[in-house]
Amino acid sequence: MLSKIINQSKIDHFSKWFQRADSIVIVSHVSPDGDAMGSSLGLAHFLESQDKTVTVIMPNAFPDFLRWMPGSKDVLIYDKYKEYADELIANADVICCLDFNAIKRIDTMADAVLASSARKILIDHHLNPEDFCRIIISHPEISSTSELVFRLICRMGYFSDISYECAQCIYTGMMTDTGGFTFNSNNREVYFIISELLSKGIDKDDIYRKVFNTYSESRLRLMGYVLTTMKVYDGCSTALLSLTKDEQSKFDYIKGDSEGFVNIPLSIKDVCFSCFLREDTEKQMIKVSLRSVGTFPCNQLAAEFFGGGGHLNASGGEFYGTMEEAKEVFEQAIEKYKPLLQKKGQ
Ligand code: 5GP
Ligand code: MN
Repeated sequence: MLSKIINQSKIDHFSKWFQRADSIVIVSHVSPDGDAMGSSLGLAHFLESQDKTVTVIMPNAFPDFLRWMPGSKDVLIYDKYKEYADELIANADVICCLDFNAIKRIDTMADAVLASSARKILIDHHLNPEDFCRIIISHPEISSTSELVFRLICRMGYFSDISYECAQCIYTGMMTDTGGFTFNSNNREVYFIISELLSKGIDKDDIYRKVFNTYSESRLRLMGYVLTTMKVYDGCSTALLSLTKDEQSKFDYIKGDSEGFVNIPLSIKDVCFSCFLREDTEKQMIKVSLRSVGTFPCNQLAAEFFGGGGHLNASGGEFYGTMEEAKEVFEQAIEKYKPLLQKKGQ
């Protein structure tokens, strides 16, 4: 049995909304990851099983390693089909905002979503959600939005309507947001849910291979290269990786190729904080990814130095300037946070 984490009145409220709705739009954050796609497509499959007209709209393209996901072909990419997407958003009965806590995380879609008269629900697991939806289901203690979607569907009484495809999507989000159940994954109910998803026929090992083991040769060579340039700050138990546009072009870089790189330095015995700086190919900025093990608050550092946020152990932000400047700011940041940067397990 699962504990009743989501407030009953919110479950009842959303039940009424979706039952009365004809047209439902689901949106998630820019640079969609496994949980953004998993929670959105999982919810979409469920709502479609209830004969609703559902459109998943993402601000920009999702990475290739998620292309196998059932329903991904029908995802509308906002920056390609803005006019059509604006019309759907404006005319929706309900808009479900998944896996983000701040309206700016949906980028150029924000205006259209804010302007729409649709009923809006937020389902998310980031800290401090902004107040732009009537129903806010926000649970930072839950490791993925996909898990929240599973809990919501079950609590509304529709476990039996979770299809194989829906289960595949939900599992994908749960798996990717916990690094294959290697962090944020000690809640035993996670494994109860996995067991329920397996009862729908999913092949979890196959999903792992499809997500994590289908990269190109050039991606692996890029990883090797990036690791040779890694800088380790011994006194701070910190490591820094970086990747410029020039370096990307030498390795036929495509979107998603550096996914997961930021986690690799955490496999060093004494490193508890890792940063990856990547020059963005679309926007003139440097994307900052931060990861930690233990109690080090990545999100605090991200907010203070890189205008970002996220979770305690996984957060990010943006930097406007050169790579060298970004590195300097990062070094100032770790200098300031040095007292909190201790070796693993200390
Ligand atoms: P990633 O490093 O995978 O891009 O992001 C990890 C987590 O950090 C995301 O799930 C999200 O919570 C947070 N995050 C990443 N980039 C940003 C950002 O620019 N702003 C905010 N507020 N959070 C971010
Ligand atoms: Mn998530």
